[in-house]
Formats: sequence, structure tokens, C-alpha cells
Amino acid sequence: NRLLKIENLKVNIKDKEILKGIDLEINEGEVHVLMGTNGAGKSTLVKTISAHYDCIVTEGKITYKNKDLLEMDVAQRANEGIFMSFQTPVEVPGVNNSYFLKTAINEKRAYEGLKELDAMEFLKLVKEETSKFNIDRKLLQRDLNDGFSGGEKKRNELIQLLMLKPDLIILDEIDSGLDVDAIKTVANVINSMLDGKRSILMITHYDRLLELIKPDFVHILNDGKIAKTGDYNLALELDEKGYEAIGIKDENK
Ligand code: ADP
Ligand code: MG
Ligand code: MG
Repeated sequence: NRLLKIENLKVNIKDKEILKGIDLEINEGEVHVLMGTNGAGKSTLVKTISAHYDCIVTEGKITYKNKDLLEMDVAQRANEGIFMSFQTPVEVPGVNNSYFLKTAINEKRAYEGLKELDAMEFLKLVKEETSKFNIDRKLLQRDLNDGFSGGEKKRNELIQLLMLKPDLIILDEIDSGLDVDAIKTVANVINSMLDGKRSILMITHYDRLLELIKPDFVHILNDGKIAKTGDYNLALELDEKGYEAIGIKDENK
């Protein structure tokens, strides 16, 4: 079954056209990877899917679960099961991390017609989920991302993922700046969530994560368009030869 369909998507940021006609389809259970040189528009594409205010859609369509995604606001997209891990998560001093996560989960549950989790049920679930992967729960006692190191922000997103159980997981360079063990934890969490229905769209520059999470499709974004699509072998070829050798012009050079 199809989960997401993007058709001829054009997006401006600050009146500059960044995405120039993107077509992309993601079916249930598939893992897709977006690659591309710096500034190609990878983050813009995933930010548009999660309704980031910087991204102004000027043309095209996004259909998610057979509904018009562009008609939905940020909260509705989250409630419909879209989860986005940002390249630079925002710090929110004054908002307790545990409170934030519990609220997010209960909003999603209410949307689905489920009963709210009380504090005890929430804690029990957090313990269950995090202990499977040895993830430190102390982060939950702090304020949301406030003073978190890069690694702590990523670990916190893994907790959010495990708790929210989204249908479409979007990861923007979740592996950047992580050590090998942390990358393994990311891969273990993601792989545990792949149940044949849930789908992943992830941006990465590095091969290590892709060795651990085998993608079904690899797309190379260039100058606001998908220039090439292949399977895992395309990522391997890219890693070996670089962009220029596979016919992708690096706009930064
Ligand atoms: P990638 O993630 O592939 O490195 P981005 O999607 O972040 O690329 O950026 C695509 C282009 O949009 C770049 O040229 C970048 O400078 C520009 N851009 C992104 N965000 C902004 C912004 N807030 N203001 C101005 N330009 C932006
Ligand atoms: Mg970048
Ligand atoms: Mg980016």
C-alpha cells in the first residue's frame, strides 16, 4: 500500500526556488534514503513534509494515507503518524522533557480515540522501551533539549520514536556526529521498528548507517530535483566514486 506520494513538488525558501519538481513515492514498509551534495535541498524536502514554516509550496501535491498532506497543520501531521528528527533540534528551556513527550503521546492517542496514559502508565512504557536498547532515561527529567549534547539530542529522539511509534519516520542526518556505538543504537532502534508497515525516509552522508539499515531505495537529490534513483548499490557506488563520477554536479564547487 502507498503511504506517501509527492508529485511535481516545488518549494521556495525566502522567495528562492529550492525544490524544482520532486516526484517520490513511498510504500508501506519501505526504507528510502536521500543523498546529495550540500545545499541540494534534502532538508528542505523533509522539512516541507513536516510542515516547517520556512518552506513555501508553490506547486505540486503531497498525498499521505490518501489525504492531502498540505492541508494538514504540524499537529495533525504528527497525529497522523509523521515523525521528523531535525538536523538541529530546537532547545526549549522551561519545558520538561518528560511532560512534553507525555503530552505528545496523549494528543496522538486522543486523536486515535484511545484513552490517555496516566503518569504511571507513561513511566512504565518509557522503562520498557528504553531498557530494550539501554538508552539512558535521565534525559527525560531535564528540559527539552536544553543544553543537550548532540548525542543526547539524538538519543532523546530515539526515546520519542520508541514511544510515539510513528508510521512515517523521517531522519535528517541522525548519524552525524555520533560515535560508532551510538550509530549502532540508532540502527537497532530503527530496525526494531521495521514491521513491514512502517516506512522510513532518511538523509545521510555516511555509509555506516546504511550498512546497518539496508535501504530499499536510494535517491540522489541535485539542484532541487531527484537526479537518480537506485537501490543500496547506488549508495555504495557513490561512496566509492563520489558525486562527479556518477554524473552529479556538485553545486558547491
Ligand atoms: P541540504 O539539506 O541538501 O544540505 P537544504 O535543504 O538545507 O540543503 O538547503 C537547500 C538550499 O536552501 C541551500 O542553498 C540553502 O542555503 C537554502 N536555505 C535553506 N534554508 C534557508 C533559510 N532559512 N534561508 C535562506 N536559505 C535557506
Ligand atoms: Mg546540509
Ligand atoms: Mg540538510
